[in-house]
Amino acid sequence: METFDPAELPELLKLYYRRLFPYAQYYRWLNYGGVTKNYFQHREFSFTLKDDIYIRYQSFNNQSDLEKEMQKMNPYKIDIGAVYSHRPNQHNTVKLGAFQAQEKELVFDIDMTDYDDVRRCCSSADICSKCWTLMTMAIHIIDRALKEDFGFKHRLWVYSGRRGVHCWVCDESVRKLSSAVRSGIVEYLSLVKGGQDVKKKVHLSEKIHPFVRKSINIIKKYFEDYALVDQDILENKESWDKILALVPETIHEKLQQNFQKHHNSLQRWEYLKKTISSQDNTKNDKCGPWLEWEIMLQYCFPRLDINVSKGINHLLKSPFSVHPKTGRISVPIDVQKVDQFDPFTVPTISSICRELDTISTNEGKRNEAESDIKHRTRDYKKTSLAPYIKVFEQFLENLDKSRKGELLKKSDLQKDF
Ligand SMILES: [Zn+2]
Repeated sequence: METFDPAELPELLKLYYRRLFPYAQYYRWLNYGGVTKNYFQHREFSFTLKDDIYIRYQSFNNQSDLEKEMQKMNPYKIDIGAVYSHRPNQHNTVKLGAFQAQEKELVFDIDMTDYDDVRRCCSSADICSKCWTLMTMAIHIIDRALKEDFGFKHRLWVYSGRRGVHCWVCDESVRKLSSAVRSGIVEYLSLVKGGQDVKKKVHLSEKIHPFVRKSINIIKKYFEDYALVDQDILENKESWDKILALVPETIHEKLQQNFQKHHNSLQRWEYLKKTISSQDNTKNDKCGPWLEWEIMLQYCFPRLDINVSKGINHLLKSPFSVHPKTGRISVPIDVQKVDQFDPFTVPTISSICRELDTISTNEGKRNEAESDIKHRTRDYKKTSLAPYIKVFEQFLENLDKSRKGELLKKSDLQKDF
């Protein structure tokens, strides 16, 4: 098991920001090809320093300015904010009201703590391999909708470093969306509604929307292993009472009696499905196949933090920032391989710094004469951070391709005139 000692964090961060942080790729991302003037320079960064000292409205001139400041400040956490009308670090010099957030990626934040009423293995900040499937399903469902229903091309999924995932949608047109449109999108993607006091959080209409149907199809692939075996959601009276609260009272007694006769969640779920479908729909319009889907959705459907997505000026933890409690790096997730993604194997700052130490010792003084820049570009490649940076580079590649395609289209249009 990986050990991480938070007391060592300041020293580890120094090494990380000096030799491992992928500045070039990071700048390449947020500069977006340099197409819009001052896009990078007007971006807000916020740093959380030692002892929770929080500094907003940081901004940088270029990659080397960013590098210098990060190495100087040694932030425990980095957040990314909006692109503003003016340089954020000069916001005090601008006339009141003139300093406005103008653009930002559309972001999503999914946190395991929001599932505490439906996961039985852990609670609050804890996660395990059993409940991580919730994040896997969430990524599949949201990513499919963003791609197919909205046509968004550039989606970067990132592990938060502890108990959740983030998504950054970076298409040029998406970065310009208003708050109202962002709200509409996140509303479309939300099915589980109501706080702690609301028992039944999913209500389907009789006509199932294609988005809902496609989401259910994704959940179906995981439901048996995840909900019935791992979470064992019908294990005992206490757990099945929660499910009874989601179905009409008319069938409570029948289910209650027969649940006792069956041996496990799998059998009980089969019985529940049979009972629902055997109800006479003409007499009891509350019992239809959607009842089964409502339960599945309540237990498995992604729960988004709506406020994070709505606001243009909302900050979100940056990719490649370190989680100060776990020491894990916020690494990009390869959506093609999301089923194999294991948060417990994500490198920690101490593990990659140790890998670097080992290399340095092996290589001896041979490299000492080489420049710092040469060091940096190759250093992360020698650590277990490398595959995650590759995922990030693939994402940047696609952004570049789109941009070049757009430029070509524009120049072709000009030729036509
Ligand atoms: Zn768990």
